[in-house]
Amino acid sequence: MYSRESSSSDLDKEKIVYVFGHQSPDTDAICASIVAANLEKEMGNINQVIACRLGNLNKETSFALEYFNFPPPTLIEKASEADEVILVDHNNPGQSAKDIKQAKVVKIIDHHGLSGFSSPEPIYILTEPVGCCCTVLYKLYKDNDIPITKNYAGIMLSAIISDTVLLRSATTTQRDVKTANKLAKIAGVNLEEYGKLLLTKGTEISDISDKDLVFQDSKEFGVGDEKIQISQINSYNVQEPLDRKEGIKKVMKEFMDKKKDIVLFVFDILDIYNMDSYAIVLGPRKKAVESAYHVEIGEDDVVFLKKVASRKKQLYPDIAHRLIDIQKKEKKNKTEN
Ligand code: MN
Ligand code: MN
Repeated sequence: MYSRESSSSDLDKEKIVYVFGHQSPDTDAICASIVAANLEKEMGNINQVIACRLGNLNKETSFALEYFNFPPPTLIEKASEADEVILVDHNNPGQSAKDIKQAKVVKIIDHHGLSGFSSPEPIYILTEPVGCCCTVLYKLYKDNDIPITKNYAGIMLSAIISDTVLLRSATTTQRDVKTANKLAKIAGVNLEEYGKLLLTKGTEISDISDKDLVFQDSKEFGVGDEKIQISQINSYNVQEPLDRKEGIKKVMKEFMDKKKDIVLFVFDILDIYNMDSYAIVLGPRKKAVESAYHVEIGEDDVVFLKKVASRKKQLYPDIAHRLIDIQKKEKKNKTEN
């Protein structure tokens, strides 16, 4: 689908295509949508390709877009108003547009595990085990000889810095490191200096409400027949969000009261200096966290998780694994009784 030859028959100037990342967009979700939309345009596949977003920009993303001169992507609510849809930085329908099942998804470009997406028709899917969707997109630009200009390099780099916490997270691969270094050169910035600046901008929370703090990067996951919610923020000064734990817990409780089907809510504060986590944990399935990391959650619902930094590679799979064990044991006990 990404070769010029094969795409000519698909050419349809009237078609409107939306490109977007997941809800509660992070820098990768936003930048990947802009970068992937540009790739489609450069390939000449489609005419009306629009970079979109499903939510507000966080500070880090706003900083990156301003720094490299991009307007925010178009805010949309309905994916099904487009003729076709391209998903970036996610493939889980639960993290996508609310009406994603009514939309015609034609491509997925991602770096997450496959979860829950199905299509009656064959579609283009490229997911790679790398630290950032923009690392995958960089390869597509190279493979198709599409030039990467300074500003596009800048936002791709910003996404990699954000997803890999300046190449320090457990999800970072050699390809992310190589790609980031190449992009920094094209963008004309010093990788370490710009990276620290971006991450610091992104972790300022003094003027963010408790609610926005909890939901600025929040994801729902299905585990067996239960649902868990994991939010994550990066911090250079963990005491700052920890001082606000009562307000944060109130927001988490309200959300669980409203949703009713969330059995565990983890609000993870990632200390990006040390790559350790402080997690606020609520819900009837707290045990899954305690048993996954052999820790005890304090009376204040806070727990320290040494060297736990990645939601994708650590928190979610570790907790899900334990929760499934617990669910199985309960079912077994039920049938035995
Ligand atoms: Mn993301
Ligand atoms: Mn990503």
